[in-house]
Amino acid sequence: MSSTLSEASVSDSSGPEARAAAEAVTPVFETLVVVGPGLIGSSVLRRAQQKGTLARTLIAVDVSPEVRARVEELGIADRVMADAAEAAALADCVMLCVPVGAMGPVAAQVLPAMRPGAVLTEVGSTKVSVIESICPFLRPDVAYVPAHPMAGTEYSGPDAGFATLFEDRWCLLTPLDGTPPEALSAVRTLWERCGARLREMTPAHHDRVCAIVSHLPHLLAFTICGTADDLADETRSEVLDFAASGFRDFTRIAASDPIMWRDVFLSNREALLEMLARFMEDAQAMARAIRWGDENYIVDRIQRGRAIRKSLIENRQA
Ligand code: NAP
Repeated sequence: MSSTLSEASVSDSSGPEARAAAEAVTPVFETLVVVGPGLIGSSVLRRAQQKGTLARTLIAVDVSPEVRARVEELGIADRVMADAAEAAALADCVMLCVPVGAMGPVAAQVLPAMRPGAVLTEVGSTKVSVIESICPFLRPDVAYVPAHPMAGTEYSGPDAGFATLFEDRWCLLTPLDGTPPEALSAVRTLWERCGARLREMTPAHHDRVCAIVSHLPHLLAFTICGTADDLADETRSEVLDFAASGFRDFTRIAASDPIMWRDVFLSNREALLEMLARFMEDAQAMARAIRWGDENYIVDRIQRGRAIRKSLIENRQA
């Protein structure tokens, strides 16, 4: 780990003014390698490039020659490389921004090449299974800091990213028992400098929270679009004609990347199925209320929905 890391850690606890002063001069890392410069990875690179305070040197790694050429064209990294292990050997921080199902295999590639004292972090949308897939390859001299920036759009790839993606969004950190505090502090500082708000929690708690706030809504969106698509041709065209009435919001979520969401569903299977079962019970209760004309129940549920929307707006998360 670079000497700048300990300075960043010290600045973390010295109040906003001292932090701002340190931030003006001291990047968190010397060399940051981003493996997978898609929506999330390229947003980190853009932010790092714009601010200059995340790392002095930025390296992007992608397996596809087309994506590497595009990243070079965009000019969002100092170097673009094909070999993750070769890039990792140059870094004091490696950030994996690949689909959650690819985290283990990519970690297996980069970890043996990493420098002693370097930090491995990742941005996977699920934590328990990603941590389980990375842990077998961990080395005692490389710190691992799992993180999940809760920001995204339905788009993917290097063109989809933007430097302000993480501003005012939550970044959830799920450190392990053995995560060194200075590595955790460095990754915290990195996300703070991306504009994120930070919260620490256990991996299992993270997965339950994300199952309800993110994974279940995506499951519902994919399902409702599938249901509409299964209807007769005439109805389907009317769905498209009159989509403005609520359905449109589902279609935005349903436009998300299939591989990413396949991996998320499979890797958070238990928490997601539990939340889905709870949801189906509640949907049945609503169906029952509609069938029997239980106005109070229906109004209560709608009011709860409105209250949640209001508090999201107040928290600047809408
Ligand atoms: P993305 O735009 O599709 O980018 C994925 C990147 O990973 C691409 O560069 C892709 O390379 C690379 N990749 C895919 N499979 C790979 C493999 N087997 N080995 C090596 N590289 C591989 O996806 P994203 O939305 O940025 O998501 C990346 C990660 O962030 C995921 O773990 C996701 O769970 C997490 N995340 C996503 C969101 C969101 O809303 N999108 C939010 C928070 C966290 P190619 O383009 O060459 O295939």
